Amino acid sequence: MHYVDRVLRELIEKNPQEPEFHQAAREILSGLKPIVDRHPEYENAALLERFVEPERAILFRVPWVDDRGVVRVNKGYRVQFNSAIGPYKGGLRFHPSVNLSIVKFLGLEQILKNSLTGLPIGGGKGGSDFDPKGKSDAEVMRFCQSFMTELYRHVGQDTDVPAGDIGVGGREIGYLFGQYKRICGEHTGVLTGRGLSYGGSLVRKEATGYGLVYMVEEAMKCRGDTLDGKTVLVSGSGNVAIYAVEKAQALGAKVVAMYDSDGYVYDKNGIKLNVVKQIKEIERGRIKEYAKRVAGAEYHEGCGGIWNIPCDVALPCATQNEIDATSAELLIKNGVRYVGEGANMPTTLDGIALFQSAGVVFLPAKAANAGGVATSALEMAQSSGRMFWSFEEVDAKLKAIMTGIYHNMDGAAREYGCEGNYVAGANIAGFAKVADAMMAQGIV
Ligand code: NDP
Repeated sequence: MHYVDRVLRELIEKNPQEPEFHQAAREILSGLKPIVDRHPEYENAALLERFVEPERAILFRVPWVDDRGVVRVNKGYRVQFNSAIGPYKGGLRFHPSVNLSIVKFLGLEQILKNSLTGLPIGGGKGGSDFDPKGKSDAEVMRFCQSFMTELYRHVGQDTDVPAGDIGVGGREIGYLFGQYKRICGEHTGVLTGRGLSYGGSLVRKEATGYGLVYMVEEAMKCRGDTLDGKTVLVSGSGNVAIYAVEKAQALGAKVVAMYDSDGYVYDKNGIKLNVVKQIKEIERGRIKEYAKRVAGAEYHEGCGGIWNIPCDVALPCATQNEIDATSAELLIKNGVRYVGEGANMPTTLDGIALFQSAGVVFLPAKAANAGGVATSALEMAQSSGRMFWSFEEVDAKLKAIMTGIYHNMDGAAREYGCEGNYVAGANIAGFAKVADAMMAQGIV
């Protein structure tokens, strides 16, 4: 049995209740066979076995009191997956679906994503099954303070630097940072995604969405194509989705649909992003409001129907496994030519296979959404250097990083005989640097 297949089989046996972790590991490991074949020393050093086992997984209780005085208890997680190339770095997700399997899938992906940015950051991820939706600001604050009251002992600017993810935006980062500072008495870059008044970086809020579109733009440019005049679908209506829409529209694309977990809006005249921002960023409302406020827009209950709308470019920006084989078939039938993953693992493995065999340019999450963490690393650099760069400066660095990642994964795919397969290319390019660092550091 091939070394890679053996490691995957053992991983499934040892972690039987973790389907999302299995899915991510299968996607990553299967693409690594060509590089593993060139390096027989990896097997002797049990490199893959160590790569798929987190260095540390911290599980903790998060007790807090709601506005009615009722005591509530949530689960807290931080998986410190791999520190071979730098301090652990990766977001915190607050969503009822969060469990160890989801945090481990995200953490494993994060190792390679962070490596792809070319910056010195290792991989980690964390979160809670707490749902900020429908909670008051005071409840969110009390929850965040309780979460940090345990987490503070495991994080630090040189050890582990969390950031946002689903359900964790500027408000939550602010409360988490305030509690860290209060306990530790230090104003350091322990979290990224901070507000601009207390150590944040310009462009961090926009970075994942902008970065995704920069990569799509580069893939199109290499094929003599542009976003100008193209029809685009964007799923989700959170941080990543909103700024992907903003950049796509700035480059001349027409975005016609977005969703939240209740349903999607279709606006054949092009989404009015100022209305979406008002509803989502200011009112924290539901996307169905959009159809009440914009003439000609339609609202449909349920999310899946969005993928039946004809488009040139699809940007899934909400959550894992949004596009399954059925949705992929619909998109292909209706003429999609580019799929860029803004969310983490939004396409199932059979969906990816369908896109690739239909010749759709498929840009996988760990490359396409790396702009967020790359800009977080730029925020860390500014914190350490006590500097503050202009919007244009950070944006230019972000664009250079995203085009660099595109060419890096494209080059790796060519070098290892799988031209155009960016899933394999991104996995190989990201893994090569981590493997090199792990081999150099001995059996740790
Ligand atoms: P947000 O919480 O800001 O937004 C998430 C959006 O996705 C919301 O519109 C939410 O709808 C929707 N959504 C969540 N779960 C589901 C579901 N099960 N079905 C349908 N819609 C759903 O999160 P982000 O925009 O920050 O993150 C989105 C994705 O991007 C995630 O996969 C995240 O891991 C990834 N990512 C984020 C980065 C960042 O910088 N923020 C960096 C790299 C990746 P609702 O409000 O109804 O729940």
